[in-house]
Amino acid sequence: MGRGIKLFKILGIQISLDYTWFIVFGLVAWSLAQGYFPLTLPGLSIMSYVLIGITSAILLFACVLIHELSHSYTSNKLGLDIKEIKLFIFGGVAQLTKEPDDPTTELKIAVAGPAASIALAGIFWILTQLVKTFYLYPIAAAIFEYLTTINIVLVIFNMIPGFPLDGGRVLRALWWKKTGDIHKATRVASLAGKGFSMLLILFGFMQIFFGNFVGGLWMVFIGMFLQQAAESSYSQLLVKKALEQIKIGDAMTRNVVVVTEDSTLATVVEKYFFGYHFVGFPVASDGRIVGMITLNNVRTIPKELWATTLVRDVLNRITPDIILSPEDNAMDALSRMISLDVGRILIMENGKLVGIITRRDIMKLMEFKVDLGV
Ligand SMILES: [Zn+2]
Repeated sequence: MGRGIKLFKILGIQISLDYTWFIVFGLVAWSLAQGYFPLTLPGLSIMSYVLIGITSAILLFACVLIHELSHSYTSNKLGLDIKEIKLFIFGGVAQLTKEPDDPTTELKIAVAGPAASIALAGIFWILTQLVKTFYLYPIAAAIFEYLTTINIVLVIFNMIPGFPLDGGRVLRALWWKKTGDIHKATRVASLAGKGFSMLLILFGFMQIFFGNFVGGLWMVFIGMFLQQAAESSYSQLLVKKALEQIKIGDAMTRNVVVVTEDSTLATVVEKYFFGYHFVGFPVASDGRIVGMITLNNVRTIPKELWATTLVRDVLNRITPDIILSPEDNAMDALSRMISLDVGRILIMENGKLVGIITRRDIMKLMEFKVDLGV
């Protein structure tokens, strides 16, 4: 899901909207404006209902966002690295670069979202009571009441014990804690998730059959989405386990081709990019690795200047995060690449460059393993 619009940053986390979000936003605002509010607040103009519907839909998504932020904030505090939350057609997803390493961490992260929704339901309930007691703005009372209900619905739905819902994560964490086996725990929670999504799909078809077409179709879609998510989260775990068993030392490319920092871009393009077909090379200065040069760096400089521009002027300086040791595993390398958004990691041993590993290397290795059945 690369498409979308970046909105703003909160607590260091980028909030984005996927394009599919607009569909669900429109549907929610529309069904509130022509169904829910005319029933609970009769006698207003169509324009008022539209405005109330849009306001409530925005507040609903603010609640969903607070739920997701609560998960992400907790994850970041517990040492996992979440940089982005994306709102899309079925709610929100936090972009995890890493899975929790122990059940207690997973439990805390899973519970944080529903806890925030319970708090929101409480706040909106108190607001509803306040506004109602003093016979103030009936429109505000109706919106607050709706938000109270919807937050309770969010808690109930999310606490259904099927992976990848929060309740499923809780189930997995508890099972994992009890048995020490994350593998089995994930399989149980995914099976529960699949079972629940089947029920949802079945129930959706029954709704359609009895005439509730939009509501039923919606349930079928959510059910299908959950089923797919339950399946892929289990296979993701299998891939993760497989990658953890591969030592970087066995997967990396040795005999790394190194460029010196006082070469010109013209030489590097001619001899290295064209000569070796790699998209990035480590750069050395006096035998020490100081950076990386990639095709993207070269692209920022106009062709006419290649003969006079030196590698040292355009390279990316290396930071310690981009270096791993041959003893680390392929999963470490992959999650490092994802969180730094880079394509390659340098492998050093006793301060010396011994290899380089790219996303492609890891993909190829996985492919071979699957092909050979090992
Ligand atoms: Zn959640």
